[in-house]
Amino acid sequence: MDSEEFRDWSRRVADWGADYRAGLRERPVRAQTKPGDIARQIADAAPETGDTMEAIFADFERIIPDGLTHWQHPRFFAYFPANAAPVSVIADYLVTSIAAQCMLWQTSPAATELETRVVDWLRQALGLPKDFSGVIQDSASTATLTAVLVMREKALGWKGNSQGLAAHKAVRVYASEQVHTSIDRAIWIAGVGEANLVRIPTKGPLNGMDPDVLDAAIRADLAVGHIPAGVIACTGGTSIGACDPIRAVAAVVRSHGLYLHVDAAWAGSAMICPEFRTLWDGIEAADSIVFNPHKWLGANFDCSVQFIRSPEDQVRTLAIHPEFLKTHGHDGIINYSEWSIPLGRRFRALKLWFLLRYHGLEGLRGVIRNHVKWSEALAARLAAEPDFEIVTQPVLSLFSFRHEAGDDADGHNLALVNAINDDGRIYLTQTRVDGRIAIRFQAGQFEMTRDDADDAFKVIVEVARNLSLRSPT
Ligand code: PLP
Repeated sequence: MDSEEFRDWSRRVADWGADYRAGLRERPVRAQTKPGDIARQIADAAPETGDTMEAIFADFERIIPDGLTHWQHPRFFAYFPANAAPVSVIADYLVTSIAAQCMLWQTSPAATELETRVVDWLRQALGLPKDFSGVIQDSASTATLTAVLVMREKALGWKGNSQGLAAHKAVRVYASEQVHTSIDRAIWIAGVGEANLVRIPTKGPLNGMDPDVLDAAIRADLAVGHIPAGVIACTGGTSIGACDPIRAVAAVVRSHGLYLHVDAAWAGSAMICPEFRTLWDGIEAADSIVFNPHKWLGANFDCSVQFIRSPEDQVRTLAIHPEFLKTHGHDGIINYSEWSIPLGRRFRALKLWFLLRYHGLEGLRGVIRNHVKWSEALAARLAAEPDFEIVTQPVLSLFSFRHEAGDDADGHNLALVNAINDDGRIYLTQTRVDGRIAIRFQAGQFEMTRDDADDAFKVIVEVARNLSLRSPT
């Protein structure tokens, strides 16, 4: 592709993207395709000779957009948001064009130094103390894996990487049932083993882990010769927004000299609003904290920020220094690949820089506060309907509910989620609370308005009642 064609198509694609965003409300939120619909339209093998951009782009328009679930749709209320604020998309156009590998300071000095700055902007914005450094990871799953590796290495006197785990007693990690499955994966991959992930029961309105039970579990493990390594707490668990009591958990962790990682992948963005920080009261005692600006803050995927109290421990756990990666003559620089698992790194700091400068913290706080307010209002409206039950109260902008209808409540509510998503005006997903199906609602899409929350209410009530009429119990 010559530079004129590159210029022309870059412009056309940017135009297409702007039209796509502007027309999202006209599309069903969740893809309405059936499995195999898209694959049938794609050739079985790559062409031997090149195609024209006109032909490629025509096929893109014909096949792809209708086969997608539209995560930037203002009525996307499923899972957690994956916002891509337009300004961060613009920054990522630049990143994609430049296509730098940001593994070492030397391979991308501007990317490294901007990363240090914007992560520190976020540290301040979240109200975290100065003694946290930070790094942008690709995902919360990666951040949590690094934390588990560091806690494992510290607990094993830095011998796990060299000796493996077979030579040692069981390394134990503690978390509640409410943490995300990325914690289980980290435990598997780090070789700790699911059997050594000790589940601590939860209690209270925020479904947080019981610190007394945590303390007792650690003591019991010590008594039988296990090696307690650390605790993974959550602020804003995926299912229902569970929040562990960080201050009390941290006190137990400190008393045993363990490592504390806090997963705030979703809720962390809300901590730019001081009034929500009670949800992670005591956070300054953590060793590692992860939150995903690619969820609620508006930075497009991927962008996961990990704050670390002791980057030296992270580097000691993860860094390898072959000659071909050494940067002789540069002392005191940061090579962020030594804080991460992959060697190669995208230039992720640019979209944060653009996002934070364009909206300002106050602009972003306004977006998040609206989501919380609209979600609370929707929960109150559903609670006032005679046939709806609020199963878990809003934690920030997430709550769960159930439509009351007949004996097969689980079957009915699963059918309701499907019927709502087939309708297409909004998109919701389900979870299980105390063994029973509940429907999750979270408000978090960047372009969402109060009208979208009103529409959600109308759709939920209308589809639920139509479903009950069709299948009376
Ligand atoms: N932690 C929580 C609380 C989450 O909700 C999620 C994803 O939704 C994750 C971790 C995993 O995030 P990532 O996709 O960045 O690995």
